[in-house]
This record gives sequence, structure tokens and C-alpha cells, in this order.
Amino acid sequence: MKVVAATGNMHKLKEFRAIFPDWDIVSERDAGFAGEVEETGATFSENALIKARAVCRATGMPALADDSGIAVDALGGAPGVYSARYSGGGDADNRALLLKNLQGRQDRRAHFACAVALVFPDGREVTSEGRTEGEILHAERGSGGFGYDSLFFSSDLQKSFGEATEAEKNSVSHRARALAALAEKL
Ligand code: IMP
Repeated sequence: MKVVAATGNMHKLKEFRAIFPDWDIVSERDAGFAGEVEETGATFSENALIKARAVCRATGMPALADDSGIAVDALGGAPGVYSARYSGGGDADNRALLLKNLQGRQDRRAHFACAVALVFPDGREVTSEGRTEGEILHAERGSGGFGYDSLFFSSDLQKSFGEATEAEKNSVSHRARALAALAEKL
């Protein structure tokens, strides 16, 4: 199946391809989509659908989108859908703000959550979700991955996502689980 990945994030594109090796997954840029999609949804699923619909409409191809983030128990689930926009800066600023907001907190439980949406030109829509549990470290560990990976100690892997290989992360990640659930539904 030829699918366009409705994301500008090359890390996500790489993860999509690793998880669905049989699909021909092209980037939105290669499919001729240069627009910006505003994530106005209140949930990960809504945002994934908004992105997938926009890219499907613009390219005429089945579009696969994910929306994801990290939810920290002691912060009432924040930053959640605002994970990418948490500090108003980049990934390093977001990690610094998260550490600051958890300073002195004992309860560091957190999970990554991901919703994926696959939207077809004929109007069919399939969505699914996945999550992965862990804790926020007191300092960064490892330099792999992106976003909050170096601060996330995975319960499954017993190491941070920043220390994990791509294959290790893909074996337990919220995105891999959401995509596995999607494949199941398809
Ligand atoms: P999105 O691109 O709108 O889905 O924003 C997701 C944000 O959540 C990213 O910018 C990251 O900060 C964070 N995030 C989502 N998935 C991951 C992951 O697998 N590792 C690290 N951070 C992630």
C-alpha cells in the first residue's frame, strides 16, 4: 500500500517505515504537500484525524498521521496534547521546563500516548491508540531519539528511550503500539 505520512518529523517517518516495512511510505513533502496543519483538537485522536484528513485531501493519497505526547501524573497529565508546544521553544527547552516543573516531586510516573489515523480518499477513516509507561528521570540519559526521549525511563526496557536502540524503542513505544493496533483493525 502506498501511503503518505502526514508529518514533517523525520524521526516519526523513520519509525513508521520501520514498523510497516511492507508499505511504501512517502513523506508529505515528497507527495507535494507543503502546508501547515493547525492542531486544534482537544485529544490526540482528534489531532491525528485533522492532520490525516488535510494531507489526504491535498494529495489524493491514503494519509497516515500520528499525534502524540507525554502525560505526567503529578502534573495532571500535562503537557499532553501540548507536548510539542510546552515551553514555546524547541525540544531542549521543553525538557528543561519539564524538569523544572517536577523539581522536588517524588511521583515521577508518566506515559507517552499516541493516536494514529489513516484516512483514505474514499472517506474511510481508521484510528487507534497506544501508550507506554515510565518515569521522568532527574536528568537526561542518552542522546538517541527526539523530544522527551532522554528524560523518559521506560518501565518495559528499564532504560531511557534516549539510551535505547531504535529497535528497542520500536518494540515498546506508544507509536509502535498504536500502529500495531491500526494494523489489527485493517
Ligand atoms: P506532535 O508532533 O504534534 O505529535 O507532537 C508530539 C510531541 O510530543 C513531540 O514534539 C515530542 O516532544 C513529544 N513526543 C511524541 N512522541 C515522542 C517520542 O516517541 N519520543 C519523545 N518525545 C515524543
